[in-house]
Amino acid sequence: MCDVCRCYNFNCHMLNGDKNKSNVVTFYTAYADQRGQARLCYYHDVELFKLGERGFFALYPKLYNDMRANRSKYTDIRLRDKKEFDLGI
Ligand SMILES: [Zn+2]
Repeated sequence: MCDVCRCYNFNCHMLNGDKNKSNVVTFYTAYADQRGQARLCYYHDVELFKLGERGFFALYPKLYNDMRANRSKYTDIRLRDKKEFDLGI
């Protein structure tokens, strides 16, 4: 599930229609010493491309705050995906 849609309770399906794939993207400015990764839906992936990382965080501060508060969730996304898969989320 898209991390922005989750933080803001957006209806991911309404935003994306048929394009219901999500991508893992890398953020370079969230942490000083480490890259962060998040999962974004097609709509938010395009928005990130258009706005750039700074503009994206300005538009979605809740994502930034969540990344800052839950660092481990955003630094090893493969591990998180596996956990969510195991839990059936
Ligand atoms: Zn989204």
